Amino acid sequence: MDVRGVVRTTRGIQTSDGAGVRLRRLMGGGGAVPSIDPFLMLDFFDTPNASDYLAGFPEHPHRGFETVTYMLNGRMRHRDNHGGEGVIEPGGVQWMTAGRGVVHSEMPEQTEGLMRGFQLWVNLPARLKMTAPAYQEHGAERMPVEEREAGVRVKVIAGQTSLGTRGPISAEATQPIYFDIELPQGAEFTEPVAADRAVFVVVHAGQVDVAGQVIEAVGLSQLGAGDTVRLRAVGGPARALLIAGKPLNEAVAWYGPFVMNTHAEIVQAIEDYQAGRF
Ligand code: MN
Repeated sequence: MDVRGVVRTTRGIQTSDGAGVRLRRLMGGGGAVPSIDPFLMLDFFDTPNASDYLAGFPEHPHRGFETVTYMLNGRMRHRDNHGGEGVIEPGGVQWMTAGRGVVHSEMPEQTEGLMRGFQLWVNLPARLKMTAPAYQEHGAERMPVEEREAGVRVKVIAGQTSLGTRGPISAEATQPIYFDIELPQGAEFTEPVAADRAVFVVVHAGQVDVAGQVIEAVGLSQLGAGDTVRLRAVGGPARALLIAGKPLNEAVAWYGPFVMNTHAEIVQAIEDYQAGRF
């Protein structure tokens, strides 16, 4: 067993996106931590102030990758140009494959109260960038929670745990796991994660010892080489996301909401969007 250590940790940068939604960019997009192939970007929004989120994310396009929205508190309504519409409820997730093109809006379905959640961008390989748009959308009740020793609870959003609990979401190219782990004070979580996977942890409540380094909420730690992830809550209960996937090892051409392999494909994406071909 070779426990993965921490390569780097960030608390992200405060920024805003959409029509002025206040958020913390924990990875990518010119933030403090570069992308971790196959993951492009991770944003965390966490505010009780309606003025920080009411403007939402009005109509905008995506091409060439997947967006994953996981709500902890609050509700978000999405609506796209292919007739898709729905509300992501607390504890629910939407895994959207933008593929060859989606134009959508993501707007808070509330005018007051706490809004907390994550949006992760997952890259697609060249052969799938122009695939048909698709959704995997699941409420909290559809995601299994694995109960382990010492009161550790593992909510399985994507992929499968070593004990065999399988989440409802899968993605063929990147084979992601996406777990939300609750750790009582002092409890430990140990999980094999194949050596060829890129791995990061996001502590979003309390403090977690990750292979000897204490990470406070909200902090993202990229993990290094190894085949096992080990987390332990220190100083109280804690909660962390464990996310891993297979790197694509392809060229990335990234312009705003378009992530392709070449500059020419970006130019094509802009032309297609402007011509209404999404
Ligand atoms: Mn979007």
